[in-house]
Amino acid sequence: MTVTELWFDPSLCFIDGAWVPPAEGQTLPLANPSNGEEIGQIARGTAPDIEAAVQAAEAARDGAWGRMPAADRGRLLARLGRLVQDRAEDLARIEAQDVGKPLKQARADALALARYMEFYGGAADKLHGETIPYMDGYTVYTLREAHGVTGHIVPWNYPMQIIGRSVGAALATGNACVLKPAEDACLTALAFAALAQEAGLPAGALNVVPGLGAEAGAALSGHPRVQHISFTGSVGVGAAIQAAAAPNVVPVTLELGGKSPQIVFDDADLGAALPFLVNAGIQNAGQTCSASSRILVQRGVLEEVTARMAERYGALRVGPALDDLEVGPLISARQKGIVESFLARGSDLTVAAQGDLSAAVDGGHYVAPTLFSGVAADHPLARDEIFGPVQVIIPFDTEEEAIAIANGTDYGLVASVWSRDGARQMRLARQIRAGQVFLNNYGAGGGVELPFGGVGKSGHGREKGFEAMYGFTTLKTVAAYHG
Ligand code: NAP
Ligand code: MG
Repeated sequence: MTVTELWFDPSLCFIDGAWVPPAEGQTLPLANPSNGEEIGQIARGTAPDIEAAVQAAEAARDGAWGRMPAADRGRLLARLGRLVQDRAEDLARIEAQDVGKPLKQARADALALARYMEFYGGAADKLHGETIPYMDGYTVYTLREAHGVTGHIVPWNYPMQIIGRSVGAALATGNACVLKPAEDACLTALAFAALAQEAGLPAGALNVVPGLGAEAGAALSGHPRVQHISFTGSVGVGAAIQAAAAPNVVPVTLELGGKSPQIVFDDADLGAALPFLVNAGIQNAGQTCSASSRILVQRGVLEEVTARMAERYGALRVGPALDDLEVGPLISARQKGIVESFLARGSDLTVAAQGDLSAAVDGGHYVAPTLFSGVAADHPLARDEIFGPVQVIIPFDTEEEAIAIANGTDYGLVASVWSRDGARQMRLARQIRAGQVFLNNYGAGGGVELPFGGVGKSGHGREKGFEAMYGFTTLKTVAAYHG
């Protein structure tokens, strides 16, 4: 599958069950990060397209979609999941060419999208209210109701996974969605819309408007008739979206990245830890909100962990997405510039090892995966999110020190603890400030079933798992007096 063989036209928006040109007739170029080549044009949707999408979603909410029994909604999502699964290889090849991720990662993303539809399809009719004991003569119960029209603003790093978790939970609970994918990564969002059409999703239940964040994204986040916004991306844009939604007083879910630590104690099973330590940092070229960019290592195993991580870094090959090496290009020249400026700020640090750039191709946005060792916890590279294949090793002596370092950034998304001491595992699981803590493993981006989200500047609200179904609904209490 090449992008010239798509089963949908990427220069169109998907609104009200139909493929329509953007109202202002403009397009944006589509680039392949592996070689910088232009591979097509996508729609540049603007405020009128968002307005049309919101109207379509309102009609769906008030019509066939809103009235559909939960079991039927679930069946449609399950059918959509099977279509995604059947087309997983095509979706993976499209994604690899659009965002530069190695094929095996793109395949995992496509299968995760299918799995989200399966999970939320199955969950759709299992969201129950409660009955509440109250005064004599009353029966009180709660109803979980859809917000109505939900807005979904998605970044470029894991389009399929983030669409799956956000749109999947919203549709399962009966919301009608308006999705604004990132301008750098629209193709699988549109492919998904085409498959939703094939699955028989009613018109207006899912609308996709590609375009720029400052145009289509801003129109969606400030739209007065959108009843919930779900956003994944940078802290600055997340804050702007929360501010844009504030006058409309609608709930906002923000997932804004992190500086997630893995903490390796002297008693850890290093053989088990090593693959996780490196993979969680270089997966998707480090462009992962839950990337593990800080490796905290207790002094007794510091030398060994540094040497073994360095050995793995030396074996990392960087190249075009379709070559399916360990690391692909970054998404854009802009992102490459951001990562290179961080590497320049690390010029005072020790480079323990770098990956192999010999398979990189001219015009692509490649950087060498870089492991820094012996880094102080207050160094900018140990505090700020880099969003590239860069990890720092931070030494520590005591458990208390490890906790202080782990909690010492503005973020709190994911953490892991590598130790054979069960009591220590339990202490750290409680004391680390993060939305997820892994004990003797690490899941960067994985876990359809696992509630996910952050504290601090990592954001608020929870996606994934059953928990997301609560976020995409509002609770109504009905108190009946019958004497
Ligand atoms: P971003 O600017 O936050 O973009 C995320 C999404 O928000 C995109 O769909 C973007 O659209 C949209 N957007 C941008 N400005 C908007 C606005 N004013 N109103 C509404 N929507 C808007 O992220 P980025 O520029 O792609 O990446 C920059 C940094 O963000 C990265 O270096 C990384 O640190 C962080 N990031 C985090 C995650 C994560 O998973 N938490 C994901 C991606 C990036 P367009 O892109 O089409 O303009
Ligand atoms: Mg692209």
